[in-house]
Amino acid sequence: MSVGNCTSCGATITTAKKFTKFVCPGCNEEKLLRCENCKKTANTYVCKKCGFSGP
Ligand SMILES: [Zn+2]
Ligand SMILES: [Zn+2]
Repeated sequence: MSVGNCTSCGATITTAKKFTKFVCPGCNEEKLLRCENCKKTANTYVCKKCGFSGP
């Protein structure tokens, strides 16, 4: 089952894979998803809603 796309790399995230889901620290609204790989490499993400970026 697809959960969405990784906010950093755009990879499709499914419930079969490990991923992190968190609320954007910038706007506290947008739900951000990160795949295991991006979490490991601390890939930068940018919130589509408020433009907040972080590692
Ligand atoms: Zn990713
Ligand atoms: Zn945001």
